[in-house]
Amino acid sequence: MIDLRSDTVTLPSPEMREVIANAEVGDDVYGEDPSVNQLEDESASLLGKEAALFIPSGTMGNLVAVLTHCERGAEIILGNKAHIFLNEAGGAAALGGIHSHTIPNQKDGTLKLDDIKKAIRYDDIHHPRTRMICLENTHNMCGGVALTVEYTRSVGEIARDHQLKLHLDGARIFNAAAALDLDPAELVEPVDSVMFCLSKGLGAPVGSILCGEVDFIQQARRIRKMLGGGMRQAGLVAAAGLFALKHNLPLLKDDQRRAQDLARGLMEVKGISLMDKIPPSNMVYLDLDPEFSLDAVQMKAKLKEKGILGGIEGERQMRLVTHLWITDQDIADVILGIKEITAEG
Ligand SMILES: *Cc1c(COP(=O)(O)O)cnc(C)c1O
Repeated sequence: MIDLRSDTVTLPSPEMREVIANAEVGDDVYGEDPSVNQLEDESASLLGKEAALFIPSGTMGNLVAVLTHCERGAEIILGNKAHIFLNEAGGAAALGGIHSHTIPNQKDGTLKLDDIKKAIRYDDIHHPRTRMICLENTHNMCGGVALTVEYTRSVGEIARDHQLKLHLDGARIFNAAAALDLDPAELVEPVDSVMFCLSKGLGAPVGSILCGEVDFIQQARRIRKMLGGGMRQAGLVAAAGLFALKHNLPLLKDDQRRAQDLARGLMEVKGISLMDKIPPSNMVYLDLDPEFSLDAVQMKAKLKEKGILGGIEGERQMRLVTHLWITDQDIADVILGIKEITAEG
């Protein structure tokens, strides 16, 4: 199977399994796991932040950030297509009593600066207190688009002017850095906290990292424990994360090139329109034209018959994600497969 549903489907390679098997471990709740400590140190320095925390998942990483920055009844400003808003089971509200104030995500993944300013509450006993702004980079639902450093700085300025925290859901921040050809530390310099996933394009089996200032991370460590995310000999998985940062991070550019190759191959295919002719990172979003006979569910089934797995994003929209395990040959096979299906339809 050529699995393009997500970059989360990557499996640990034999080399990574070897590193896992030989990892040095200790009790991380006591702060004694050398592999976890090394992963946290390397992650913090990679992103130019003071400290970092290893967390079981990206969802928990975002939740820990929200709960650390905000008290019950506080309000966060975020996009209406944000992963935190749409795909994290309402954790901020359910577990933190935190109010989400959504404003429209623009096509390029940004929030209008003016919309952000208008959404910030003035001091009045009727209002919840605004505490935090959240951005997402790359922006998953907006086609995997990368937010620029200039934009992130502008939002950082608004946050500072109003004594708000700025959190970045950077599940794919290294894809963004690769897309923009930037040092990831520069890209996240304006934010107070950033979460990234080791378990997506980086190819580790489990884990995410939350980075920020020392005081923030210390408090986040308590919140992680509260949520049940304190892990003991977590060095076994942290070792995979270290391997991923060293060996797989430089390969993200290949995923981007393959997404572009895929889009180029699909550009002329009748019945299909691409969200972006040049995919901004490792995702190709495609829309099935109204006159095309299949909808996304039917198209997915047809693809599966050809050994290709894709994701459904809407009634007539699909998402194909390139990652570590997708080869140039796979891309050629997928283009051919889709051409055959559309020729029949
Ligand atoms: C995957 C993802 C997350 C959550 O990560 P999990 O490890 O799946 O919980 C958060 N934000 C974005 C943008 C993501 O794509």
